[in-house]
Amino acid sequence: MQDQNTVVPFVLGIILVMLILFFVIANMLGKKPKAKKVKKQTYFGEEVWVNLESEARRETECLCLQCAALKPGQPDNCPHAQYFYEGCVKANCAFMMTRCRDFKTRELKEPEDNSHWNIPPHFDM
Ligand code: SF4
Repeated sequence: MQDQNTVVPFVLGIILVMLILFFVIANMLGKKPKAKKVKKQTYFGEEVWVNLESEARRETECLCLQCAALKPGQPDNCPHAQYFYEGCVKANCAFMMTRCRDFKTRELKEPEDNSHWNIPPHFDM
């Protein structure tokens, strides 16, 4: 017969391992994707839903906003950008371009040089 001094810690150890496994598995099953920070804000006189994370990164991450072909308000503006821009104006929404076959690198005089743009008043930057 085993000594009670060895059986009790053994049983307690088994119970502890089972509890840890239970919480690990329950945590894995109950994991949900992180909720995005979505909030209502007013743009152009209208309340719209905004993904605050992507909205904050749009100016630095959008391919169009770094592209030489983007010339808002000019006749030689990129036709793709113009198409999306008109859709965004109609729906009061915004997006950022993440890939494009026609992207053109532009030479910057200054890090934030947007002087070649003639930005219309309703173009949200
Ligand atoms: S060429 Fe592509 S990246 Fe450049 S402005 Fe047009 S759609 Fe945007």
